Amino acid sequence: MFEVRHHDLLGRVGRLRTRRGVVETPALLPVVNPLKQLVSPQELWEMGFRAIMVNAYLLLKSMREEVESRGIHEVLGFEGAIMTDSGAYQLLVHGKVDTTPEEIVEFQVKAGSDVAVILDVPTGYPASRSVAEATVDETLRRARALFSLDRGEALWVGPVQGGAWLNLVERCAREMASLPFDLHALGSPTRVMEQYLFDLLVDMLAAAKPHLPLSRPLHLFGAGHPMMFSLAVALGCDLFDSASYALYARQGRYMVDHGTLRAESLKYLPCSCAVCSKLTVEELREMPRVEAERALAKHNLYVCLAELKRVKQAIVEGRLWELLEARSRSHPSMGAALRKLRELTPLLEAGTPISKPKGAFFHDASSMHRPEAYRFRRRVKERLSFNHRKLLLLIPPPPSKPYTRSKAVKRALKELHEVLKDELSLIEICVYATPLGLVPLELDEVYPASQHEAPRGLEVEAEGVSASEVADLIDSGGFEAVVYLHLPRLRGLVHDAALKACLERGLGFKAYSPKASPWSPRSLKELASLVGELLKKAKEA
Ligand SMILES: [Zn+2]
Repeated sequence: MFEVRHHDLLGRVGRLRTRRGVVETPALLPVVNPLKQLVSPQELWEMGFRAIMVNAYLLLKSMREEVESRGIHEVLGFEGAIMTDSGAYQLLVHGKVDTTPEEIVEFQVKAGSDVAVILDVPTGYPASRSVAEATVDETLRRARALFSLDRGEALWVGPVQGGAWLNLVERCAREMASLPFDLHALGSPTRVMEQYLFDLLVDMLAAAKPHLPLSRPLHLFGAGHPMMFSLAVALGCDLFDSASYALYARQGRYMVDHGTLRAESLKYLPCSCAVCSKLTVEELREMPRVEAERALAKHNLYVCLAELKRVKQAIVEGRLWELLEARSRSHPSMGAALRKLRELTPLLEAGTPISKPKGAFFHDASSMHRPEAYRFRRRVKERLSFNHRKLLLLIPPPPSKPYTRSKAVKRALKELHEVLKDELSLIEICVYATPLGLVPLELDEVYPASQHEAPRGLEVEAEGVSASEVADLIDSGGFEAVVYLHLPRLRGLVHDAALKACLERGLGFKAYSPKASPWSPRSLKELASLVGELLKKAKEA
């Protein structure tokens, strides 16, 4: 029913098979209000939307007979998949709805919904612990009750409630996962997103996602701004629904991929969609109000579609983290969300391919938290705790990559071989101050040691990461001595950390700070003889 084609972080490009054809995910389902349509379902189909969302509760109350007799697809005039929401949002806003969980299930079956949702009880935000607990308990009770009812041919969504109470979110997710739902959804994020609490959204998704089966798509209710699609997808969301495109249009708000602009204050339309490429800003301003709202609504939808395509392409190329970094500059709250993601690296690593078609970009210190770097540092630790070499040689980043094929390293190895001969195998050579932290030369072929780009000067920031790793490495590697080769533009943080670790453990330590370039033949000769002396001492001790 759901097939994953590509993945990166927890994001996937997938295919959800419904009765009405396949929906490629991640997908945005525009919410259609059958009573006041700004953009018709037919137009949405022509724009490229293969699934839409409609509120089953509103249909039940306003056009029940018609929908039950003709079916929802015919009434709306949409040939793609239709997801029906149950009225939980109305429950959240108005405190009550005039239906029962059983009635809304039965209505969605009769209407011929392709993807249907039980009438869950939204926790909302903020909510007290006792209220949150009650909403989770009642939602779970209604979820279990679904399976004794006629469910028709729809795919059924098990919503996860709990709001900002993360242990309740986790419990709800676990119990929902044990029931035979086809999809899941994270409930109650609307207020959280309206208030730009994206770091809290990260927490909520991280509490739910690991407990839900990967074979079931995850829907995020009410997420309709392109700025946060990459974030939600990175945390494992596959489907979104939103009426934002229309609500924003009514308020004269013009979406862009990194935020929202006021249409009236625009001097240019910074977009080339089918709407904006045929309009000037003056023409938009002079349009009758309804027409301008329609134009804005369609533009907003095109911007959402374009960003989803960017997200999908980024997943295929293994660049979702890079898109997240770009979007983290859209708004300080998105920056806060990215910082929050750093705490989730082990979770994100699980979905990140071992090797990628393209090299990884490191822009600044925050890029060093990307899962590929985290995975690499973990592998270094595992690798070096088993190899029992006698001496650790720490060298700065050579001028070119792959390090093992750079002239500088080849020359260094040649000089070391002259002095050490067969004992060269007793030396572990690690490059420090790389964006990955420490890179042992034997892991040079492991992604992304050779496949990355970083700006000149990042070594200075990367020194800090290597400094905190080096003590661990000296501990676990079982070395008897350490030699450090200095690069003048660095601060010497790795030197200080290595020296301290050696003093504490009573190991030999030598630092060499050449006057000329560290890669000059003379510097390398001196380095090799220093290594030779220290190794000899270490063996005698
Ligand atoms: Zn546009």
